[in-house]
Amino acid sequence: MNKYDVVVVGAGNAALSSALAAKDNGAKNILVLEKASQKERGGNSRYTNGAYRFAYNGFSDLKKIIPSLKNSNSIDYGKYTVSDFLKDMKKVTDGKTDKVLSKILTSKSFETVHWLSKKGLKFTPIEGRQSFKVNGVMKYWGGLTLEVNGQGEKLVDSLLKITKKNGIKIQYDSAAIDLIYEDNEIKGVEVLHKNKPHKIYARSIVLACGGFESSSEMRTRYLGPGWEMAKVRGTKHNTGDGLTMALKVGASPYGNWSGCHAVFHDMNGPEFSDLKISNKYRKISYPWGIVLNANGERFVDEGEDFRNYTYAKFGREVIKQPNQIGWQIFDQKVRHMLYPEYDVKSATMVKAKTLEELVKKLSGVNSAKALQTIKEYNDSIRDDIKYDPTIKDGRCTDGLKVNKTNWANKIDKPPFYAYGVTCGITFTFGGLRVDKNCQVLNKVMKPIKGLYAAGEMVGGIFYFNYPGGSGLTSGAVFGKIAGHSAALN
Ligand SMILES: Cc1cc2nc3c(=O)[nH]c(=O)nc-3n(C[C@H](O)[C@H](O)[C@H](O)COP(=O)(O)OP(=O)(O)OC[C@H]3O[C@@H](n4cnc5c(N)ncnc54)[C@H](O)[C@@H]3O)c2cc1C
Repeated sequence: MNKYDVVVVGAGNAALSSALAAKDNGAKNILVLEKASQKERGGNSRYTNGAYRFAYNGFSDLKKIIPSLKNSNSIDYGKYTVSDFLKDMKKVTDGKTDKVLSKILTSKSFETVHWLSKKGLKFTPIEGRQSFKVNGVMKYWGGLTLEVNGQGEKLVDSLLKITKKNGIKIQYDSAAIDLIYEDNEIKGVEVLHKNKPHKIYARSIVLACGGFESSSEMRTRYLGPGWEMAKVRGTKHNTGDGLTMALKVGASPYGNWSGCHAVFHDMNGPEFSDLKISNKYRKISYPWGIVLNANGERFVDEGEDFRNYTYAKFGREVIKQPNQIGWQIFDQKVRHMLYPEYDVKSATMVKAKTLEELVKKLSGVNSAKALQTIKEYNDSIRDDIKYDPTIKDGRCTDGLKVNKTNWANKIDKPPFYAYGVTCGITFTFGGLRVDKNCQVLNKVMKPIKGLYAAGEMVGGIFYFNYPGGSGLTSGAVFGKIAGHSAALN
């Protein structure tokens, strides 16, 4: 059979959420097409920690998602309202996030995560990374509180199992290469299945096949010069195919096409990450130290905000630096606060007993200037302000070209550590313009009959930055809507 009610392109979180919602809403024959082999399945969703950002009004809401969750005096899960989430979206995107889409994302975040949990996804509180112990109580910052049990690997496995149980067919090694567009409507998709072309017809197509982060050509075209040098943190399969196909039939591009989520990443990581090491290359404990470029100068405010609000944009800053490299510097006082990925054997790390010795070991760096920068940084710290890593403590530097706004501590206790970083791209922000039903709009802002989009492919949500954990939520929220609409078409 090559005629379906709904064909979903991609098999990540957004695609599988779409397929499940299409089933919920009456579509009978649903096909999921996945470019990767079964072994490489799951897209970027499989690389995640499985952390979903969503609005909740306290413990009782979390308990709806994890019925076995116990209330305890030693844990404060806090709350995170729709308006907190919306505020964060506006804050990190400099107010650019699309008003309608961000309202949908934030207001439907809880019900969508709840829907996933009812479908069978198992969630658990995030341990360690999103909470701090204050007076014996583990206090969550709010927002990013739950992750899927077993993280991205389990997230994809579970969604695939649930999808299969719902009678939805998944075809691997099947890359969509073109849309079949006749008489002003989408009729199907052309596919390379095991490298052989064929056509599949459908009433509705949901494109949920990721951004263009894994295409060095598109990165350089849209993000700018230097981006061909970035390392890819996720799947090698997100090469912008869905965007290219949709633009070809007249879809309207939307959002931050020159923007992406990119982090500090080990400078010696491979071109594409492999599932075992991806998150281990990430280096995002910079708020507890400083970062120097090849000129030996600081180039970001490492303490601008909690790392959740800065880590996704600092990769972009390192791409602008000479040779696209940086070195993160820490001393003994804070070494224990670094994430476990700093402990992996393959990390590009140097260690020294003195700062003089350390700067000489930083390959490709002006060591005299690096030493001067560290000393000037140490001398500029406002010691009168109390250091407190659980809040934005305001303990800053004074009078530097680039000041550090919070958590400024002297780098003075040996041994000293430095970690070599470059840019690791996570996903791109530019996408397609969709209406509130996730139907793709054309250049005259009218819906293209039969065409829907979800996940990384939706433009207008993230600009410059994103609040950690909202990629999965966005995929699920808009995936669910796209699947629903596709079924009703
Ligand atoms: C290392 C890492 C960690 C992350 N951690 C988190 C986190 O904890 N929380 C969070 O919210 N976000 C996180 N993200 C971001 C998150 O992964 C994405 O926002 C989200 O997974 C995107 O989902 P998606 O379904 O749109 O895309 P994907 O999951 O990437 O799925 C797209 C799928 O489309 C397939 N595909 C591509 N082209 C074609 C084609 N032509 N035909 C058929 N199939 C095709 C791909 O193979 C892939 O399976 C992380 C990303 C990375 C890389």
